Amino acid sequence: MSNIIEYFSSVGKGIVSLVKGMQVTGKELVTKKITECYPENRDNLNISDRFRAVLTLKDVDGHHKCIGCGICQMNCPNGTITLQTKMVDLPDGKKKKVLDKYMYDLGSCTFCMLCVTTCPQGALEFSNDFEQSVFTREKLVKELNAGLENPPIQAPKPRPAAAPAAAKPAANVEKTAPAKDDTATTPLAGNKPEEK
Ligand code: SF4
Ligand code: SF4
Repeated sequence: MSNIIEYFSSVGKGIVSLVKGMQVTGKELVTKKITECYPENRDNLNISDRFRAVLTLKDVDGHHKCIGCGICQMNCPNGTITLQTKMVDLPDGKKKKVLDKYMYDLGSCTFCMLCVTTCPQGALEFSNDFEQSVFTREKLVKELNAGLENPPIQAPKPRPAAAPAAAKPAANVEKTAPAKDDTATTPLAGNKPEEK
């Protein structure tokens, strides 16, 4: 008798479980689909602005904003960035370090954004151009400043004329006599042994 009760009990539990599963399936059946049919929908693909596909130097009217300081290279945890810099002559005869080549290895980038967030110039960003498949790893190494000019070099500002030194006020020579230590030091009375 107990075997029959156990049998019908398990059948009932199975039916309840099946109904719950069918409820989830039925709900998804009428929910709006978010699956992208790539590559058929390449022309109207919806990619999030926050998607990190590949590091790029921002293009500002044909110039990038990198000053070759090397902070991004130092902060990159796995050596993905390699900078080459060069010295150029300024109009005033001085020299200035500028970026020569900004090499980035997409194959080793972990998309951590440390380079982007620490750049003092705001020169870097991640594009969401995700179609980066190539046949060899060498092709994943990119020169990010290719086709971009270095930022225009600003003419050095003339130094302001030195202001005449202001007359110093007479020094207050009043001196305070050092305070005397009036505290008398009382020698400690020794505890003489009691004479018998
Ligand atoms: S990208 Fe930014 S942090 Fe990196 S070298 Fe250029 S200015 Fe410096
Ligand atoms: S995102 Fe991270 S791993 Fe990639 S280059 Fe920048 S610092 Fe390096």
